[in-house]
Amino acid sequence: MQELTHYIGGEHVKGTSRRFADIFNPATGEVQAKVPLASSDEISQAVEIASKAQLAWEVVNPQRRARVMMKFVDLLNRDMDKLAEALSREHGKTIPDAKGDVQRGLEVVEYCIGAPQLLKGEYTDSAGPGIDMYSMRQALGVTAGITPFNFPAMILMWMFAPAIACGNAFILKPSERDPSVPLMLAELIEEAGLPKGVLQVVNGDKEAVDAILNNPVIQSIGFVGSTPIAEYIYGRGCSNGKRVQCFGGAKNHMIIMPDADIDQAADALVGAGYGAAGERCMAISVAVPVGDETADRLIEKLIPRIEKLKVGPYTAGDDIDYGPVVTAAAKQNILGLVESGVAQGAELVVDGRNFNLQGYEDGFFVGAHLFDRVTPNMDIYKKEIFGPVLSTVRAASYEEAIGLAMDHEYGNGTAIFTRDGDAARDFANRINIGMVGINVPIPVPLAYHTFGGWKKSVFGDLNQHGPDAFKFYTRTKTITSRWPSGIKEGGEFNFKAMD
Ligand code: NAD
Repeated sequence: MQELTHYIGGEHVKGTSRRFADIFNPATGEVQAKVPLASSDEISQAVEIASKAQLAWEVVNPQRRARVMMKFVDLLNRDMDKLAEALSREHGKTIPDAKGDVQRGLEVVEYCIGAPQLLKGEYTDSAGPGIDMYSMRQALGVTAGITPFNFPAMILMWMFAPAIACGNAFILKPSERDPSVPLMLAELIEEAGLPKGVLQVVNGDKEAVDAILNNPVIQSIGFVGSTPIAEYIYGRGCSNGKRVQCFGGAKNHMIIMPDADIDQAADALVGAGYGAAGERCMAISVAVPVGDETADRLIEKLIPRIEKLKVGPYTAGDDIDYGPVVTAAAKQNILGLVESGVAQGAELVVDGRNFNLQGYEDGFFVGAHLFDRVTPNMDIYKKEIFGPVLSTVRAASYEEAIGLAMDHEYGNGTAIFTRDGDAARDFANRINIGMVGINVPIPVPLAYHTFGGWKKSVFGDLNQHGPDAFKFYTRTKTITSRWPSGIKEGGEFNFKAMD
Protein backbone atom coordinates (compact mmCIF):
# COMPACT_ATOMS: atom_id res chain seq x y z
CA MET A 1 0.00 0.00 0.00
CA GLN A 2 1.42 3.35 -1.02
CA GLU A 3 2.15 5.61 1.96
CA LEU A 4 2.14 9.31 1.15
CA THR A 5 4.28 11.84 2.96
CA HIS A 6 4.37 15.41 4.19
CA TYR A 7 6.53 17.94 2.37
CA ILE A 8 8.54 19.68 5.08
CA GLY A 9 11.70 21.74 4.55
CA GLY A 10 11.84 20.80 0.88
CA GLU A 11 11.80 17.05 1.54
CA HIS A 12 9.20 14.33 1.42
CA VAL A 13 9.04 13.13 5.01
CA LYS A 14 7.15 10.23 6.48
CA GLY A 15 4.60 10.96 9.15
CA THR A 16 5.73 10.27 12.70
CA SER A 17 2.32 10.22 14.41
CA ARG A 18 1.51 6.73 13.04
CA ARG A 19 -2.03 7.96 12.44
CA PHE A 20 -3.22 7.60 8.82
CA ALA A 21 -6.29 8.24 6.69
CA ASP A 22 -7.31 6.02 3.79
CA ILE A 23 -7.33 7.47 0.31
CA PHE A 24 -9.94 5.80 -1.84
CA ASN A 25 -10.26 5.25 -5.53
CA PRO A 26 -13.79 6.66 -5.69
CA ALA A 27 -14.56 4.74 -8.88
CA THR A 28 -13.92 1.32 -7.33
CA GLY A 29 -14.29 2.00 -3.62
CA GLU A 30 -10.85 0.47 -2.99
CA VAL A 31 -8.28 2.01 -0.67
CA GLN A 32 -5.40 3.02 -2.93
CA ALA A 33 -3.03 4.77 -0.52
CA LYS A 34 -2.61 6.05 3.01
CA VAL A 35 -1.89 9.60 4.05
CA PRO A 36 -0.20 10.44 7.35
CA LEU A 37 -2.09 12.67 9.77
CA ALA A 38 0.27 15.15 11.40
CA SER A 39 0.68 15.61 15.11
CA SER A 40 1.01 19.07 16.63
CA ASP A 41 4.79 18.44 16.90
CA GLU A 42 5.01 18.04 13.13
CA ILE A 43 3.16 21.34 12.68
CA SER A 44 5.59 23.04 15.11
CA GLN A 45 8.53 21.64 13.16
CA ALA A 46 7.15 23.00 9.88
CA VAL A 47 6.50 26.39 11.49
CA GLU A 48 10.08 26.58 12.73
CA ILE A 49 11.43 25.86 9.25
CA ALA A 50 8.96 28.31 7.70
CA SER A 51 10.01 31.13 10.05
CA LYS A 52 13.64 30.86 8.95
CA ALA A 53 12.82 30.45 5.27
CA GLN A 54 10.45 33.43 5.37
CA LEU A 55 13.09 35.84 6.67
CA ALA A 56 15.28 35.10 3.68
CA TRP A 57 12.34 35.10 1.23
CA GLU A 58 10.79 38.44 2.21
CA VAL A 59 13.99 40.28 1.27
CA VAL A 60 14.06 38.75 -2.21
CA ASN A 61 12.86 41.59 -4.38
CA PRO A 62 9.29 41.33 -5.74
CA GLN A 63 10.46 41.01 -9.32
CA ARG A 64 12.53 37.95 -8.52
CA ARG A 65 9.62 36.50 -6.58
CA ALA A 66 7.46 37.13 -9.64
CA ARG A 67 9.95 35.25 -11.81
CA VAL A 68 9.38 32.15 -9.67
CA MET A 69 5.67 32.49 -10.42
CA MET A 70 6.44 32.87 -14.12
CA LYS A 71 8.46 29.69 -14.18
CA PHE A 72 5.84 27.92 -12.05
CA VAL A 73 3.21 28.69 -14.72
CA ASP A 74 5.45 27.04 -17.34
CA LEU A 75 5.88 23.96 -15.19
CA LEU A 76 2.15 23.69 -14.47
CA ASN A 77 1.54 23.71 -18.22
CA ARG A 78 4.33 21.18 -18.78
CA ASP A 79 2.87 18.80 -16.17
CA MET A 80 -0.82 19.48 -16.83
CA ASP A 81 -1.61 15.90 -17.91
CA LYS A 82 0.24 14.36 -14.98
CA LEU A 83 -1.44 16.68 -12.47
CA ALA A 84 -4.89 16.09 -13.95
CA GLU A 85 -4.45 12.31 -13.84
CA ALA A 86 -3.31 12.35 -10.20
CA LEU A 87 -6.19 14.65 -9.34
CA SER A 88 -8.85 12.50 -11.03
CA ARG A 89 -7.44 9.32 -9.50
CA GLU A 90 -8.12 10.54 -5.95
CA HIS A 91 -11.01 12.95 -6.47
CA GLY A 92 -12.92 11.09 -9.18
CA LYS A 93 -13.67 14.09 -11.43
CA THR A 94 -13.26 13.79 -15.21
CA ILE A 95 -9.95 14.70 -16.84
CA PRO A 96 -11.31 17.88 -18.52
CA ASP A 97 -12.66 18.95 -15.13
CA ALA A 98 -9.34 18.16 -13.44
CA LYS A 99 -7.50 20.22 -16.05
CA GLY A 100 -9.93 23.07 -15.38
CA ASP A 101 -9.11 22.76 -11.68
CA VAL A 102 -5.38 23.20 -12.40
CA GLN A 103 -6.01 25.90 -15.01
CA ARG A 104 -8.10 28.13 -12.70
CA GLY A 105 -5.33 27.91 -10.10
CA LEU A 106 -2.67 28.62 -12.70
CA GLU A 107 -4.50 31.80 -13.69
CA VAL A 108 -4.07 33.14 -10.16
CA VAL A 109 -0.37 32.29 -10.33
CA GLU A 110 -0.27 34.33 -13.56
CA TYR A 111 -1.93 37.23 -11.75
CA CYS A 112 0.77 37.00 -9.07
CA ILE A 113 3.43 37.70 -11.69
CA GLY A 114 2.18 41.26 -11.27
CA ALA A 115 3.47 41.32 -7.65
CA PRO A 116 5.95 44.20 -8.20
CA GLN A 117 3.10 46.39 -9.41
CA LEU A 118 0.55 45.08 -6.90
CA LEU A 119 2.86 45.60 -3.92
CA LYS A 120 3.67 49.21 -4.69
CA GLY A 121 2.80 51.59 -1.88
CA GLU A 122 1.51 55.15 -2.01
CA TYR A 123 3.49 58.35 -1.71
CA THR A 124 2.62 61.92 -0.81
CA ASP A 125 5.38 64.36 -1.51
CA SER A 126 5.57 67.45 0.77
CA ALA A 127 2.68 66.56 3.03
CA GLY A 128 4.10 69.38 5.20
CA PRO A 129 7.32 71.41 5.25
CA GLY A 130 10.05 68.86 4.54
CA ILE A 131 7.56 66.11 5.25
CA ASP A 132 6.82 63.18 2.98
CA MET A 133 4.40 60.40 3.69
CA TYR A 134 4.48 56.94 2.15
CA SER A 135 3.07 53.50 2.69
CA MET A 136 4.48 50.08 2.10
CA ARG A 137 2.97 46.62 2.03
CA GLN A 138 4.95 44.16 4.09
CA ALA A 139 4.69 40.41 4.36
CA LEU A 140 2.89 38.95 7.38
CA GLY A 141 5.44 36.20 8.07
CA VAL A 142 4.30 32.59 8.34
CA THR A 143 0.82 32.03 6.91
CA ALA A 144 -1.30 28.89 6.63
CA GLY A 145 -4.13 27.48 4.55
CA ILE A 146 -6.64 24.69 5.10
CA THR A 147 -8.36 23.47 1.95
CA PRO A 148 -11.29 21.26 0.87
CA PHE A 149 -11.31 18.08 -1.21
CA ASN A 150 -13.30 19.41 -4.14
CA PHE A 151 -10.66 21.60 -5.81
CA PRO A 152 -7.34 20.05 -4.76
CA ALA A 153 -5.32 22.25 -7.14
CA MET A 154 -7.21 25.51 -7.74
CA ILE A 155 -8.04 26.63 -4.21
CA LEU A 156 -4.55 25.80 -2.95
CA MET A 157 -2.98 28.02 -5.59
CA TRP A 158 -5.54 30.77 -4.86
CA MET A 159 -4.02 30.86 -1.39
CA PHE A 160 -0.35 30.03 -1.59
CA ALA A 161 0.52 31.89 -4.80
CA PRO A 162 -0.41 35.38 -3.52
CA ALA A 163 0.86 34.59 -0.02
CA ILE A 164 4.28 33.64 -1.41
CA ALA A 165 4.37 36.44 -4.00
CA CYS A 166 3.88 38.86 -1.08
CA GLY A 167 6.96 37.46 0.69
CA ASN A 168 5.33 35.10 3.18
CA ALA A 169 6.03 31.48 3.96
CA PHE A 170 2.99 29.23 3.63
CA ILE A 171 2.00 26.03 5.42
CA LEU A 172 -0.65 24.12 3.54
CA LYS A 173 -2.93 21.61 5.22
CA PRO A 174 -4.84 20.14 2.28
CA SER A 175 -7.82 17.83 2.42
CA GLU A 176 -6.88 14.35 3.58
CA ARG A 177 -9.10 12.93 0.80
CA ASP A 178 -6.87 13.92 -2.16
CA PRO A 179 -3.40 14.98 -1.00
CA SER A 180 -1.25 13.91 -3.99
CA VAL A 181 -1.66 17.04 -6.12
CA PRO A 182 -0.77 19.39 -3.23
CA LEU A 183 2.50 17.47 -2.75
CA MET A 184 3.20 17.68 -6.50
CA LEU A 185 2.53 21.43 -6.51
CA ALA A 186 5.01 21.97 -3.67
CA GLU A 187 7.70 20.10 -5.59
CA LEU A 188 6.91 21.97 -8.78
CA ILE A 189 7.15 25.46 -7.30
CA GLU A 190 10.54 24.55 -5.84
CA GLU A 191 11.64 23.41 -9.28
CA ALA A 192 10.56 26.90 -10.38
CA GLY A 193 13.07 28.39 -7.94
CA LEU A 194 11.23 28.78 -4.65
CA PRO A 195 13.63 28.24 -1.74
CA LYS A 196 13.00 25.20 0.42
CA GLY A 197 10.74 25.74 3.40
CA VAL A 198 8.75 28.65 1.92
CA LEU A 199 5.92 26.32 0.89
CA GLN A 200 5.36 23.20 2.98
CA VAL A 201 2.56 20.65 2.91
CA VAL A 202 1.53 19.05 6.17
CA ASN A 203 -1.22 16.49 5.82
CA GLY A 204 -3.66 15.97 8.61
CA ASP A 205 -7.05 16.28 10.21
CA LYS A 206 -8.50 18.24 13.13
CA GLU A 207 -5.36 17.71 15.23
CA ALA A 208 -3.19 19.46 12.61
CA VAL A 209 -5.79 22.21 12.15
CA ASP A 210 -5.96 22.85 15.89
CA ALA A 211 -2.15 22.97 16.05
CA ILE A 212 -2.22 25.63 13.29
CA LEU A 213 -4.91 27.58 15.15
CA ASN A 214 -2.91 27.50 18.38
CA ASN A 215 0.54 28.24 16.98
CA PRO A 216 1.49 31.82 17.94
CA VAL A 217 3.96 32.22 15.04
CA ILE A 218 1.32 31.70 12.34
CA GLN A 219 -0.02 35.11 11.40
CA SER A 220 -2.90 34.30 9.11
CA ILE A 221 -5.17 31.42 8.15
CA GLY A 222 -7.11 30.94 4.96
CA PHE A 223 -9.82 28.29 5.01
CA VAL A 224 -12.17 26.90 2.40
CA GLY A 225 -14.60 24.11 3.27
CA SER A 226 -17.97 23.53 4.92
CA THR A 227 -19.69 26.25 6.94
CA PRO A 228 -19.58 24.61 10.41
CA ILE A 229 -15.79 24.17 10.14
CA ALA A 230 -15.40 27.66 8.63
CA GLU A 231 -17.25 29.12 11.61
CA TYR A 232 -15.09 27.15 14.05
CA ILE A 233 -11.80 28.15 12.42
CA TYR A 234 -12.81 31.78 12.10
CA GLY A 235 -13.82 31.99 15.77
CA ARG A 236 -10.77 30.21 17.16
CA GLY A 237 -8.34 31.87 14.76
CA CYS A 238 -9.59 35.39 15.47
CA SER A 239 -9.61 34.90 19.20
CA ASN A 240 -6.01 33.72 18.93
CA GLY A 241 -5.17 37.04 17.29
CA LYS A 242 -4.73 35.83 13.71
CA ARG A 243 -5.93 37.33 10.48
CA VAL A 244 -8.49 34.83 9.19
CA GLN A 245 -10.65 34.43 6.09
CA CYS A 246 -12.98 31.45 5.79
CA PHE A 247 -15.15 30.47 2.85
CA GLY A 248 -17.99 28.06 3.57
CA GLY A 249 -20.85 26.17 1.98
CA ALA A 250 -23.43 27.21 -0.57
CA LYS A 251 -26.93 26.75 -1.94
CA ASN A 252 -26.95 28.53 -5.25
CA HIS A 253 -30.26 29.50 -6.84
CA MET A 254 -30.86 30.05 -10.53
CA ILE A 255 -33.95 32.07 -11.39
CA ILE A 256 -35.54 31.35 -14.74
CA MET A 257 -37.82 34.16 -15.91
CA PRO A 258 -40.77 33.45 -18.24
CA ASP A 259 -38.97 35.27 -21.08
CA ALA A 260 -35.75 33.23 -20.78
CA ASP A 261 -34.51 31.04 -23.59
CA ILE A 262 -35.59 27.77 -21.98
CA ASP A 263 -33.28 25.54 -24.02
CA GLN A 264 -30.32 27.68 -23.03
CA ALA A 265 -31.44 27.70 -19.39
CA ALA A 266 -31.90 23.91 -19.36
CA ASP A 267 -28.45 23.32 -20.88
CA ALA A 268 -26.92 25.69 -18.33
CA LEU A 269 -28.71 23.98 -15.43
CA VAL A 270 -27.53 20.54 -16.44
CA GLY A 271 -23.89 21.68 -16.62
CA ALA A 272 -24.06 23.75 -13.44
CA GLY A 273 -26.15 21.30 -11.42
CA TYR A 274 -24.56 17.96 -12.32
CA GLY A 275 -21.03 18.79 -13.52
CA ALA A 276 -18.36 17.41 -11.17
CA ALA A 277 -21.22 15.38 -9.58
CA GLY A 278 -22.48 18.61 -8.01
CA GLU A 279 -19.37 18.80 -5.80
CA ARG A 280 -18.74 22.48 -6.51
CA CYS A 281 -19.38 25.38 -4.17
CA MET A 282 -20.66 27.28 -7.22
CA ALA A 283 -22.92 24.44 -8.46
CA ILE A 284 -26.52 25.42 -9.01
CA SER A 285 -28.57 23.29 -6.64
CA VAL A 286 -31.89 25.15 -6.80
CA ALA A 287 -33.80 26.07 -9.97
CA VAL A 288 -36.48 28.72 -9.45
CA PRO A 289 -38.70 29.01 -12.51
CA VAL A 290 -41.09 31.97 -12.34
CA GLY A 291 -44.68 30.91 -13.07
CA ASP A 292 -46.08 27.40 -13.53
CA GLU A 293 -45.89 27.60 -17.28
CA THR A 294 -42.15 28.34 -17.15
CA ALA A 295 -41.71 25.54 -14.62
CA ASP A 296 -43.56 23.00 -16.78
CA ARG A 297 -41.56 23.95 -19.87
CA LEU A 298 -38.29 23.82 -17.92
CA ILE A 299 -38.95 20.41 -16.36
CA GLU A 300 -39.94 19.02 -19.75
CA LYS A 301 -36.63 20.21 -21.21
CA LEU A 302 -34.56 19.08 -18.24
CA ILE A 303 -35.75 15.47 -17.93
CA PRO A 304 -34.33 14.11 -21.23
CA ARG A 305 -31.09 16.04 -20.78
CA ILE A 306 -30.58 14.65 -17.29
CA GLU A 307 -31.48 11.13 -18.31
CA LYS A 308 -28.84 11.33 -21.03
CA LEU A 309 -25.99 12.22 -18.66
CA LYS A 310 -23.09 9.79 -18.84
CA VAL A 311 -21.76 8.82 -15.44
CA GLY A 312 -18.53 6.87 -15.16
CA PRO A 313 -14.89 6.71 -14.11
CA TYR A 314 -12.50 9.30 -15.52
CA THR A 315 -10.68 6.49 -17.31
CA ALA A 316 -13.72 5.91 -19.53
CA GLY A 317 -12.94 8.97 -21.66
CA ASP A 318 -13.73 12.62 -22.12
CA ASP A 319 -17.42 12.14 -22.97
CA ILE A 320 -18.19 11.21 -19.35
CA ASP A 321 -20.30 14.00 -17.82
CA TYR A 322 -19.43 13.31 -14.24
CA GLY A 323 -17.65 10.77 -12.05
CA PRO A 324 -18.19 9.32 -8.59
CA VAL A 325 -18.51 11.41 -5.44
CA VAL A 326 -15.53 11.46 -3.13
CA THR A 327 -16.36 8.91 -0.39
CA ALA A 328 -18.92 6.31 0.60
CA ALA A 329 -20.01 8.67 3.40
CA ALA A 330 -20.66 11.47 0.89
CA LYS A 331 -22.74 9.06 -1.23
CA GLN A 332 -24.76 7.97 1.81
CA ASN A 333 -25.36 11.55 2.86
CA ILE A 334 -26.63 12.49 -0.61
CA LEU A 335 -28.93 9.48 -0.88
CA GLY A 336 -30.20 10.10 2.66
CA LEU A 337 -31.15 13.64 1.70
CA VAL A 338 -32.89 12.37 -1.45
CA GLU A 339 -34.98 10.02 0.74
CA SER A 340 -35.83 12.93 3.03
CA GLY A 341 -37.02 14.93 0.01
CA VAL A 342 -39.34 12.11 -1.03
CA ALA A 343 -40.58 11.66 2.54
CA GLN A 344 -41.23 15.39 2.93
CA GLY A 345 -43.36 15.50 -0.21
CA ALA A 346 -41.13 16.74 -3.05
CA GLU A 347 -41.76 15.19 -6.47
CA LEU A 348 -38.78 13.14 -7.65
CA VAL A 349 -39.12 13.51 -11.43
CA VAL A 350 -35.74 11.98 -12.26
CA ASP A 351 -34.95 9.20 -9.82
CA GLY A 352 -31.29 8.19 -9.71
CA ARG A 353 -31.58 6.07 -6.58
CA ASN A 354 -31.15 2.74 -8.32
CA PHE A 355 -28.23 3.86 -10.44
CA ASN A 356 -25.72 1.07 -10.85
CA LEU A 357 -22.61 1.08 -13.00
CA GLN A 358 -21.63 -2.34 -14.25
CA GLY A 359 -18.14 -3.31 -13.15
CA TYR A 360 -18.04 -0.47 -10.59
CA GLU A 361 -20.67 -1.67 -8.13
CA ASP A 362 -18.52 -0.69 -5.13
CA GLY A 363 -17.66 2.76 -6.49
CA PHE A 364 -19.18 5.94 -5.08
CA PHE A 365 -21.32 6.75 -8.12
CA VAL A 366 -24.59 8.57 -7.58
CA GLY A 367 -27.26 8.80 -10.28
CA ALA A 368 -28.64 12.19 -11.29
CA HIS A 369 -31.78 13.34 -9.46
CA LEU A 370 -34.28 16.08 -10.23
CA PHE A 371 -36.88 17.23 -7.75
CA ASP A 372 -39.92 19.36 -8.59
CA ARG A 373 -42.26 21.16 -6.18
CA VAL A 374 -39.67 21.55 -3.45
CA THR A 375 -40.65 23.95 -0.67
CA PRO A 376 -38.38 26.04 1.58
CA ASN A 377 -39.18 24.04 4.71
CA MET A 378 -37.72 20.80 3.26
CA ASP A 379 -34.25 19.56 4.23
CA ILE A 380 -33.24 19.21 0.57
CA TYR A 381 -33.81 22.97 0.26
CA LYS A 382 -32.24 24.06 3.53
CA LYS A 383 -29.10 21.89 3.44
CA GLU A 384 -26.16 21.79 1.07
CA ILE A 385 -26.41 18.38 -0.65
CA PHE A 386 -23.10 18.57 -2.58
CA GLY A 387 -24.18 15.90 -5.04
CA PRO A 388 -25.95 15.48 -8.40
CA VAL A 389 -29.34 16.60 -7.10
CA LEU A 390 -31.22 19.61 -8.45
CA SER A 391 -34.27 20.95 -6.60
CA THR A 392 -36.95 22.98 -8.36
CA VAL A 393 -38.86 25.51 -6.29
CA ARG A 394 -41.72 27.05 -8.26
CA ALA A 395 -42.19 30.79 -7.64
CA ALA A 396 -45.33 32.66 -8.57
CA SER A 397 -43.51 35.93 -9.30
CA TYR A 398 -40.09 37.49 -9.72
CA GLU A 399 -40.43 39.03 -6.24
CA GLU A 400 -41.08 35.63 -4.71
CA ALA A 401 -38.10 34.16 -6.59
CA ILE A 402 -35.61 36.84 -5.52
CA GLY A 403 -37.01 36.67 -1.98
CA LEU A 404 -36.23 32.94 -1.80
CA ALA A 405 -32.59 33.45 -2.76
CA MET A 406 -32.31 36.43 -0.39
CA ASP A 407 -33.79 34.54 2.56
CA HIS A 408 -31.52 31.49 2.22
CA GLU A 409 -28.74 31.39 4.81
CA TYR A 410 -26.05 30.83 2.17
CA GLY A 411 -24.98 33.54 -0.26
CA ASN A 412 -22.17 32.22 -2.42
CA GLY A 413 -23.42 32.42 -6.02
CA THR A 414 -26.65 32.90 -7.96
CA ALA A 415 -27.87 33.43 -11.50
CA ILE A 416 -30.81 34.81 -13.40
CA PHE A 417 -31.80 33.72 -16.90
CA THR A 418 -33.85 36.33 -18.71
CA ARG A 419 -34.04 38.49 -21.81
CA ASP A 420 -35.24 41.44 -19.73
CA GLY A 421 -32.49 43.95 -18.95
CA ASP A 422 -34.57 45.64 -16.23
CA ALA A 423 -35.07 42.41 -14.33
CA ALA A 424 -31.41 41.46 -14.68
CA ARG A 425 -30.24 44.86 -13.47
CA ASP A 426 -32.64 44.88 -10.54
CA PHE A 427 -31.52 41.37 -9.60
CA ALA A 428 -27.83 42.28 -9.70
CA ASN A 429 -28.43 45.36 -7.55
CA ARG A 430 -30.72 43.92 -4.90
CA ILE A 431 -29.53 40.39 -4.36
CA ASN A 432 -27.57 39.77 -1.14
CA ILE A 433 -25.23 37.21 -2.67
CA GLY A 434 -21.54 37.62 -3.53
CA MET A 435 -21.28 36.32 -7.10
CA VAL A 436 -24.04 36.91 -9.63
CA GLY A 437 -24.52 35.52 -13.12
CA ILE A 438 -26.76 37.06 -15.75
CA ASN A 439 -27.42 34.29 -18.26
CA VAL A 440 -24.21 32.77 -16.85
CA PRO A 441 -24.86 29.78 -14.58
CA ILE A 442 -21.51 29.54 -12.74
CA PRO A 443 -20.25 33.10 -12.36
CA VAL A 444 -16.78 32.35 -11.00
CA PRO A 445 -14.81 35.61 -11.26
CA LEU A 446 -11.52 35.49 -13.13
CA ALA A 447 -8.17 35.77 -11.32
CA TYR A 448 -7.94 39.57 -11.52
CA HIS A 449 -11.34 40.00 -9.81
CA THR A 450 -12.08 38.58 -6.40
CA PHE A 451 -13.99 35.47 -5.34
CA GLY A 452 -16.25 35.33 -2.32
CA GLY A 453 -19.81 34.93 -1.14
CA TRP A 454 -21.93 36.68 1.47
CA LYS A 455 -23.93 35.55 4.51
CA LYS A 456 -23.02 32.07 5.89
CA SER A 457 -20.79 31.40 2.88
CA VAL A 458 -18.04 33.63 4.20
CA PHE A 459 -16.40 34.67 7.46
CA GLY A 460 -13.99 37.57 7.18
CA ASP A 461 -13.68 40.78 5.23
CA LEU A 462 -11.56 40.18 2.17
CA ASN A 463 -12.22 37.89 -0.78
CA GLN A 464 -9.94 35.32 -2.38
CA HIS A 465 -7.52 36.18 -5.20
CA GLY A 466 -7.41 39.42 -7.20
CA PRO A 467 -6.40 42.60 -5.38
CA ASP A 468 -7.96 41.40 -2.09
CA ALA A 469 -5.40 38.60 -1.80
CA PHE A 470 -2.56 41.11 -1.87
CA LYS A 471 -4.28 42.98 0.97
CA PHE A 472 -4.94 39.83 2.96
CA TYR A 473 -1.33 38.65 2.74
CA THR A 474 0.32 41.97 3.61
CA ARG A 475 0.26 44.58 6.34
CA THR A 476 0.26 48.23 5.45
CA LYS A 477 2.83 50.43 7.12
CA THR A 478 2.65 54.21 6.70
CA ILE A 479 5.75 56.30 7.21
CA THR A 480 5.82 60.02 7.84
CA SER A 481 9.30 61.39 7.33
CA ARG A 482 10.75 64.81 7.81
CA TRP A 483 13.97 65.97 6.22
CA PRO A 484 14.23 69.71 6.90
CA SER A 485 15.89 71.13 3.85
CA GLY A 486 17.07 74.56 2.91
CA ILE A 487 14.09 75.17 0.63
CA LYS A 488 11.83 77.80 2.13
CA GLU A 489 8.15 77.67 1.37
CA GLY A 490 7.79 79.69 -1.78
CA GLY A 491 10.86 78.12 -3.38
CA GLU A 492 13.69 80.52 -2.33
CA PHE A 493 16.72 78.59 -1.13
CA ASN A 494 17.76 79.29 2.47
CA PHE A 495 21.46 78.44 2.85
CA LYS A 496 21.34 79.17 6.56
CA ALA A 497 18.83 76.42 7.15
CA MET A 498 21.42 74.02 5.77
CA ASP A 499 23.99 74.84 8.48
P1 NAD B 1 -14.68 20.14 5.12
O1 NAD B 1 -15.17 21.32 5.87
O2 NAD B 1 -15.10 18.80 5.56
O3 NAD B 1 -13.07 20.12 5.10
C1 NAD B 1 -12.31 21.23 4.75
C2 NAD B 1 -10.98 21.19 5.48
O4 NAD B 1 -11.22 21.26 6.89
C3 NAD B 1 -10.17 19.93 5.23
O5 NAD B 1 -8.82 20.27 5.09
C4 NAD B 1 -10.41 19.11 6.49
O6 NAD B 1 -9.31 18.28 6.82
C5 NAD B 1 -10.60 20.17 7.55
N1 NAD B 1 -11.51 19.71 8.63
C6 NAD B 1 -12.54 18.83 8.52
N2 NAD B 1 -13.14 18.67 9.71
C7 NAD B 1 -12.49 19.45 10.59
C8 NAD B 1 -12.66 19.71 11.99
N3 NAD B 1 -13.62 19.14 12.70
N4 NAD B 1 -11.81 20.60 12.57
C9 NAD B 1 -10.84 21.19 11.86
N5 NAD B 1 -10.65 20.97 10.54
C10 NAD B 1 -11.45 20.12 9.91
O7 NAD B 1 -15.07 20.40 3.58
P2 NAD B 1 -14.91 19.42 2.35
O8 NAD B 1 -15.92 18.33 2.47
O9 NAD B 1 -13.50 19.06 2.15
O10 NAD B 1 -15.31 20.40 1.15
C11 NAD B 1 -16.65 20.62 0.75
C12 NAD B 1 -17.20 21.90 1.36
O11 NAD B 1 -16.37 23.01 0.98
C13 NAD B 1 -18.57 22.25 0.84
O12 NAD B 1 -19.34 22.73 1.92
C14 NAD B 1 -18.33 23.35 -0.17
O13 NAD B 1 -19.41 24.22 -0.40
C15 NAD B 1 -17.19 24.07 0.47
N6 NAD B 1 -16.44 24.86 -0.49
C16 NAD B 1 -16.57 26.22 -0.44
C17 NAD B 1 -15.91 27.01 -1.35
C18 NAD B 1 -16.03 28.51 -1.29
O14 NAD B 1 -15.20 29.17 -1.90
N7 NAD B 1 -17.00 29.05 -0.61
C19 NAD B 1 -15.10 26.41 -2.32
C20 NAD B 1 -14.98 25.02 -2.34
C21 NAD B 1 -15.65 24.25 -1.41
